[in-house]
Amino acid sequence: MVGAGLSGAVIGRCLAEAGHEIDVIDSRNHIGGNCQTRRDEETGVLVHVYGPHIFHTDDEEVWNYVNSFEPFKPYKNRVKTTARGQVFSLPINLHTINQFFGRTMRPDEARRFIQEEQADTSIEDPKTFEEQALRFVGRDLYEAFFKGYTLKQWGCHPSELPASILKRLPVRFNYDDNYFFHKFQGMPENGYTALIEKILDHPGITVQLETDFKQDMAAHYDHVFYSGPLDGFFDYELGRLGYRTLDFEEFRYDGDYQGCAVMNYGEEEVPFTRITEHKHFAPWECHEGSVCYREYSRACEPGDVPYYPIRLVKEKALLSDYVELAEKTAGVTFVGRLGTYRYLDMDVTIREALDTARGFIDRLERGEAPPAFFSAPV
Ligand SMILES: Cc1cc2nc3c(=O)[nH]c(=O)nc-3n(C[C@H](O)[C@H](O)[C@H](O)COP(=O)(O)OP(=O)(O)OC[C@H]3O[C@@H](n4cnc5c(N)ncnc54)[C@H](O)[C@@H]3O)c2cc1C
Repeated sequence: MVGAGLSGAVIGRCLAEAGHEIDVIDSRNHIGGNCQTRRDEETGVLVHVYGPHIFHTDDEEVWNYVNSFEPFKPYKNRVKTTARGQVFSLPINLHTINQFFGRTMRPDEARRFIQEEQADTSIEDPKTFEEQALRFVGRDLYEAFFKGYTLKQWGCHPSELPASILKRLPVRFNYDDNYFFHKFQGMPENGYTALIEKILDHPGITVQLETDFKQDMAAHYDHVFYSGPLDGFFDYELGRLGYRTLDFEEFRYDGDYQGCAVMNYGEEEVPFTRITEHKHFAPWECHEGSVCYREYSRACEPGDVPYYPIRLVKEKALLSDYVELAEKTAGVTFVGRLGTYRYLDMDVTIREALDTARGFIDRLERGEAPPAFFSAPV
């Protein structure tokens, strides 16, 4: 199992329970992958080391699975944004609309107002992110809440991004400011590292940290599950798949810095995209001191942590070439967000990991070779 993140831990656990012996290796000095949480020594705050992680899902099996290892506390993600010298509520809801336009509209009035006076209905078939946003919410809301944030997050103009990024109407005509729609939402009481530590805690599993996987190591194993970067497995021989990376500028504060966990900054002139104040992710805890991250997004260079796959036309072409290469490689299954070059929420990662382990066991029983991918990357 290459990688001690959620993918490696869940697949490893399922296979260990089925009687297999599992070696988990990770090049980092900690388990948990990008979900790692660490207790800050000075303040006692639980820090989301690679950026804020909120667990949300409609998948009851996955919800029961995580809760069987670590109790989850109720947590609702309520995001704010600073724009034009004011603080607004996100996702755009009735409060945001009324505050932004200085009105007191009821839901029906606001819907009519956006559809008839704001939305650009001359755009019949939106192709780009910008057209999609103009079509849905109009120029004023687009420029205040989407344009600058998207430019900073993706490093390109919203007119160069596909409409699919902004899938459905990003507006609510009521006062619901819960960021996610899912049925189950919460935070592991003692953090994600504690959760993943418990998943890995099985006599059939050994974990080795600070160990970099190289292709020749595969010969020591019956099978390899690889949750590292797909292009990295092949030593980038066809080129590098594009990612965005993040820089976190940590600062401390005595007290409550911003009164919420996540404050976005949508304006282009502000160089960071958001500030995370970690103690608000665990409202059941009490800490005087505070640990905050200013988050900056930029193109990923060799040696940086790959965060968000870009997946535009150029990257998808290269991805297809790597998929072809992977399918010719026997004895390895590529999994997880890096192995399949997709953005995956944690619940989807776990769902795919459970299905992968079950699919693998099933193939073994039928005497068939496991495939390179149980979840298709393209
Ligand atoms: C900024 C950010 C915020 C997010 N917020 C949320 C959220 O709020 N809610 C949500 O549901 N999801 C969120 N996610 C998604 C979540 O992080 C992923 O679902 C999860 O991390 C996927 O787990 P994984 O095991 O596939 O990958 P990873 O966590 O990346 O684990 C892969 C592991 O493989 C190791 N590795 C790589 N290459 C090698 C090698 N050659 N040798 C040895 N080890 C190697 C790495 O060190 C790493 O530990 C967020 C992601 C990001 C980037």
